[in-house]
Formats: sequence, structure tokens, C-alpha cells
Amino acid sequence: MAWNNRENNSTNPHDLTPVIDRCINCGNHEQVHTQITMEYEGSLNTGPICRKCYSTNSGPKITQF
Ligand SMILES: [Zn+2]
Repeated sequence: MAWNNRENNSTNPHDLTPVIDRCINCGNHEQVHTQITMEYEGSLNTGPICRKCYSTNSGPKITQF
């Protein structure tokens, strides 16, 4: 009865529910966009980043001098 395990085999991205976690950039509990690695005070931290911060940090690269 292998079909009993089908709930663990879903690869449809539309089945994924939004993940709410603490953004390592702004510290707010927001919908996580992805996992990033960022340097903070000389050490590398890996954690979730919210959609707002992701669009701010990884959106169109505009460098101002
Ligand atoms: Zn954030």
C-alpha cells in the first residue's frame, strides 16, 4: 500500500505553504522568500530573509557613490 505515503511525495510548488520566520536582516517575522548567507560583523550567518529585504538587497543592482 505504497500510496499511503503519497502525501510525502508532493513536488508541486503550489502545495508549499508560505513560511513565516524571523528575517535575519530586519528581525521581523515575515514571509520568508529564501535562505541567504550574509556577513554580519565579520562572521557569516545563514538564515531566512523576508521578501521585502530580499527585494531591497537582491533587486535591481543600483550602486550610488
Ligand atoms: Zn526582512
